[in-house]
Amino acid sequence: MYRGTFAIVDTSAIRENIRGIKSRLAQSTRVLQAVKANGYGHGAVQVARAAVAGGATELGVATVEEALALREAGIDTPILVLGVTTSEGAEAARRAKVAITIGNPDLDGIAAQLPVRRGNEPQGDAPRLSVHLKVDTGMSRLGARGAEEAVQLALALQARPDVSLDGVFTHLACADSADLAHAEAQIDQFRSVLRALAEVGIRPPVIHAANSAAALRRTDWQFDTVRVGIAAYGYGPAGVYDSPVPLRPALHLYSPIVRIATLQPGDTVGYGATYTAERPVRIATVPVGYGDGYFRTLSNRASVVVRGHRAPVVGNVCMDQLMIDVTEVPDTAVGDCVTLYGRYAPDAWNRRFGSVDAGVAEDASAGNSAMVDRMADPSWLAATFAAAADAPVLSLDELADLAGTISYELMCALSNRVPRIYV
Ligand SMILES: *Cc1c(COP(=O)(O)O)cnc(C)c1O
Repeated sequence: MYRGTFAIVDTSAIRENIRGIKSRLAQSTRVLQAVKANGYGHGAVQVARAAVAGGATELGVATVEEALALREAGIDTPILVLGVTTSEGAEAARRAKVAITIGNPDLDGIAAQLPVRRGNEPQGDAPRLSVHLKVDTGMSRLGARGAEEAVQLALALQARPDVSLDGVFTHLACADSADLAHAEAQIDQFRSVLRALAEVGIRPPVIHAANSAAALRRTDWQFDTVRVGIAAYGYGPAGVYDSPVPLRPALHLYSPIVRIATLQPGDTVGYGATYTAERPVRIATVPVGYGDGYFRTLSNRASVVVRGHRAPVVGNVCMDQLMIDVTEVPDTAVGDCVTLYGRYAPDAWNRRFGSVDAGVAEDASAGNSAMVDRMADPSWLAATFAAAADAPVLSLDELADLAGTISYELMCALSNRVPRIYV
């Protein structure tokens, strides 16, 4: 942590969020936790472990590579690849006992998504490839369109001795909208496809449709499994519906103040000089930028938190740094901890933060090197973070609104350069 910028990933929040979601579901309903895109930026392996501890019994990823990475980390929980894959990918999935999605709506398409058959028999006692058939009921992304196509595909899959048709699912486009009419229509269509499959004797063991929003809002749409993503990470769509269970954010981003300068009227800040001081202001530099996943579109819009006070982001966000106006923050200094999002930083992190040089320059008498060492001590960070459990939160929904996106994208954008500390 030589730069002082880091993220806290609160795995207990993930665990508790899933427990809360499960408390809304029938006892027999299973939870598949989506850990694609590196666990929405949190770290796929750590999220997978926390999710299983919270009661998830399956994991969802986008690619076979993501599934194999979990297997290599020793995770043997059932995994479903939610995207489509190549024939080679399907063969790798079969060997790793990973289920794949058949999402191509025609018979040629499924051939391209299944392992090449070398004969009519399964190879020795090789495991069969587990597949879930996707049905497109209105997302227009993947899956069989209409009951007839779904039946055809299901029959073709059943005819393959090396394939096991283990699930049928659909995905809702508008489960997080204020108006659920679109989702309602999708569920109706899904049910009619399930009836058509049943008429030809196909009732795959696992049926699923609900994402986080649907699982939280409609207990009658849970089928056998719900596919939870965002809610486990502590977010739902802000302002659209209230989660019936409390959700705690898991991701928190911090960075130290490394420099403070007083600007005079007319002085400008950052590339393009998009901010001009109109009075004397104190401008602090924070070593985090769009190269870390803090979007440039937040320039001159967002605010951060320093010592419990909001401080606006001024000038354009740079790749590695950004500037904030701390004129209104009393008693702030180099080494104070800036909260970019998540739980307001505990007081204990101020002045103890950042480079030894910065600390020494501010307060030569306080034994700064020892304190800086404590900032690099994950168990001390974890303990001080846990002790601040009641602190307010700067929500990713707020930043997402300002950046014209959704919390998901900001999470996924947190780059590998930012060390994640798991608590
Ligand atoms: C990512 C994903 C989910 C989870 O969605 P959330 O909105 O994060 O709950 C569910 N189903 C599929 C197919 C997905 O790709």
